[in-house]
Amino acid sequence: MREMLMATMGEMTLKGQNRKSFENALLKNLRVRLQALGEWKLHAAQSTVYIEPCDERAVANTTEAFERCLRVFGIAAFSRAAICEKDFESITKTAVDYLAPQLLAAKTFKVAAKRADKSFPLNSMELSRELGGELLLAFPHLKVDVHTPELTVMTEIRETAAYVHAGKQKGPGGLPIPTSGRAAVLLSGGIDSPVAAYQMAKRGLGLVAVHFASPPYTSPRAAAKVQTLARLLSGYTGPLPYYVVEYTKAQEYLRDQLPKQEYFTVLMRRSMLRIAHRIARREECLALITGESLAQVASQTLQALAATDEAQSLPVLRPCIGMDKAEITDVARRIGTFETSILPYEDCCTIFTPPHPRTKPKLEDVLRLEQALPELEALEAQATEEAVFTLVREDG
Ligand code: ATP
Ligand code: MG
Repeated sequence: MREMLMATMGEMTLKGQNRKSFENALLKNLRVRLQALGEWKLHAAQSTVYIEPCDERAVANTTEAFERCLRVFGIAAFSRAAICEKDFESITKTAVDYLAPQLLAAKTFKVAAKRADKSFPLNSMELSRELGGELLLAFPHLKVDVHTPELTVMTEIRETAAYVHAGKQKGPGGLPIPTSGRAAVLLSGGIDSPVAAYQMAKRGLGLVAVHFASPPYTSPRAAAKVQTLARLLSGYTGPLPYYVVEYTKAQEYLRDQLPKQEYFTVLMRRSMLRIAHRIARREECLALITGESLAQVASQTLQALAATDEAQSLPVLRPCIGMDKAEITDVARRIGTFETSILPYEDCCTIFTPPHPRTKPKLEDVLRLEQALPELEALEAQATEEAVFTLVREDG
């Protein structure tokens, strides 16, 4: 049996005059995601994108294709439908076979038919009634409930075929990438930053990921873990530009030359943001993104965040700022990054950390200390220049 996906557009349908550009972005993103999986026909009408397999390879890849499409932002709801001939017998047989699991599990149901092709011999009311009767014969435990049915069997008669499905399910929501522009996310191996990346991509931001590694203090396995996180994110964003910055020299310099080690973390974070800023400018990004959450650790107090922000001029988006760790973890599980994030490898942010970091650093002290580190800027420039770029794709 052939299946198709009907994806209902979400918030983007409220966009008035710009709506077409949102729709085009959504279609383009869906096409990119389906590219490797055969020939597909995409067609948008009345806030819905119809996605149909057109060759054998596409048919064989249907499940994988739908999973991919359902990670594309902009889709508020979807239904998977079976495609069949436009005659009553085929429609009945398809409904009985395709929806058997749902029909067996439900106690009450109704049929809702839509007839776009007016040449079909039964009108919508007649088709609903007749199909309802056939389903009652096939599943005698069912009762019809037209007001609050557990299951609504939908059938649509369209130009070229008929479709049968069991109503809509919730989609990923959000807006198509990159209708909100581009931003650079500071991606660590932790739980928070992949969630932050996901949340902002969901609002239609195209992402560039920047990861800081400090070999030999951080291992190749730690780097591979973050690369895996980037790949998982690319399932939502599409091909993801990914920069790995070797931060060792700047970090050793801070460790060896900063007289007040309780300021180490805040100075390091300022330095990382400046490097991310340089990459962001090159990549035409208009903001930075981090996974910080208020008061989670010493470097995430308001004073520390303010001292960090002052280091560069791009806005820093922190979608996790008001979330508890448990809430962030829930999202990480849902989007599939959690299991990778908890692999126990070191991160460069946690090496050389002082035993008692300053939780309320004063900006004037921070600036004074930074001014006494004349080589830092050159080390940052060098780390930026030597950053290693890859385009990460979900196909690996
Ligand atoms: P996460 O759970 O995302 O690792 P965290 O709890 O480890 O965050 P911090 O180490 O304070 O928190 O880092 C705060 C934020 O700084 C991260 O969410 C991430 O955006 C950024 N960050 C930390 N380490 C790195 C790194 N090695 N490379 C790039 N960004 C980093
Ligand atoms: Mg964190």
